[in-house]
Amino acid sequence: MMSRAKPVQVTIVNVGYLSTNYWVISAGTSRLLVDLGYPGTLGMMRANLKRMDIPLQEIRYGLATHYHIDHAGLAQELKQIGVPLLVLETQVAAIPLMKQWTKPQDRYVDITLHDNVTISFDESRSLLERIGIAGEIVATPGHSEDSVSLLLDDGSVFTGDLTPLFGKDEHGVAAASWRLLREKGATCIYPGHGPVRPMYAVSEL
Ligand SMILES: [Zn+2]
Repeated sequence: MMSRAKPVQVTIVNVGYLSTNYWVISAGTSRLLVDLGYPGTLGMMRANLKRMDIPLQEIRYGLATHYHIDHAGLAQELKQIGVPLLVLETQVAAIPLMKQWTKPQDRYVDITLHDNVTISFDESRSLLERIGIAGEIVATPGHSEDSVSLLLDDGSVFTGDLTPLFGKDEHGVAAASWRLLREKGATCIYPGHGPVRPMYAVSEL
């Protein structure tokens, strides 16, 4: 029998601030940052990474679960200091729309489109595999059309702002997204705001 190389155990660290979670998923020194800080807060992001002993140059990609300013506000500034932006096919159209929610004093740096790593959902597993992470990126609309979730094979899922249901709206778009994550094996939710929580029945979320 062929023996497969055992994948490296991933670690998950929160480098969030201002009531928002920014997750670093690491396979050894190969890392992925999920959600990318408010505009104008690069100093805070850098300080939190440093405090958690995460060298910026080890972050292989930045991924925004969706293009709202608390989740993608630093995307361009992170690109400028060497963190490539990973964009899913359903997110491209949402990127230029984000600017309208910013004010000049936010110091938002507009995200350019030509220099991102733009992939389809089907390509996500092999891209993650190349950086040592077993999992995939799944389209999970509901909170916004461009919302995606990172689902690891160990059941951890990074859902951004995918709306909790609390028994309501079980037939809506968000419910379908939760159902899909559940079917694909999600067991533990790492949300964009608030504490980590287990994945219960979809109607309880
Ligand atoms: Zn949002």
